[in-house]
Amino acid sequence: MQLTPDVVVAGSPELIRVSAPGATSVDGEWLGRKVQFFPGARTGEWTALAGVDVEAPIGPSTLKIHIIAMPDSADFSRTVEIHAAHYRTESLGVQPKFVEPGPEALKQIHEQSEVKAKVFASSAPEPLWHGDFHAPVAAAATDSFGVRRMFNGKLASIHKGADFRAHTGTPVHAANSGVVVLARPLYFEGNCVIIDHGMGLFTESMHFSRIDVKEGQHVNTGDVLGLSGATGRVTGPHLHWAVRWQGASLDPIKLLHLNLSGSTPPSKKTAAHPHHHRPR
Ligand SMILES: [Zn+2]
Repeated sequence: MQLTPDVVVAGSPELIRVSAPGATSVDGEWLGRKVQFFPGARTGEWTALAGVDVEAPIGPSTLKIHIIAMPDSADFSRTVEIHAAHYRTESLGVQPKFVEPGPEALKQIHEQSEVKAKVFASSAPEPLWHGDFHAPVAAAATDSFGVRRMFNGKLASIHKGADFRAHTGTPVHAANSGVVVLARPLYFEGNCVIIDHGMGLFTESMHFSRIDVKEGQHVNTGDVLGLSGATGRVTGPHLHWAVRWQGASLDPIKLLHLNLSGSTPPSKKTAAHPHHHRPR
């Protein structure tokens, strides 16, 4: 079993390769999350794109692997040390309605969080992504993932995405192929687009000035999703871009740096995917 990057920090996406010649299926479990493997490019190699949540406990963790083969199946596990990433703390000023939302806003926020939970709960059972992930905008990324943020000196939250310095009107692209599972305005996120890349992996783009895709639409790497902007809880125009895997928030910049070309699922011509569910 091989993990890339081999030094695992909180918030890191991990490419896991297992050599299992003759296996008919491989799955695993790591920190309470199901790890699904698909056959890799090389014969006998199985691959999973997984990761460790930004708030994962620092210290040893157990990665369990279950290999189903004929006539025998095998279970094994490995201890993976999770290292602290030492994220910064910063203070920001935003409009008061985003720190202390009124009752009407709270109702809206609650409903929207249920919509998002439903979206993240269902993912295509096979990888929809192919090859490396590409930056969503032609703009500089800030070192902002994992930063502990104080809003107006009060509410502390962990920044679970990467901010790109994109001016309003900058085209935002699909980082990889997948299905648009959410494309609508939300309270904090502003105009928001979520793409399902399959097997529990999602990318989420926020604060668009305009959305150009529809829920249920299949997108390819590089397709324009909309234009960046300053809608929702922002201090100014930018693109907030987040990566989620099985509910874990991963560092998007680290995902962009992963070389996936040798471990990529076979390319499929996919016009429609019946596997995702539209939020109601
Ligand atoms: Zn952000």
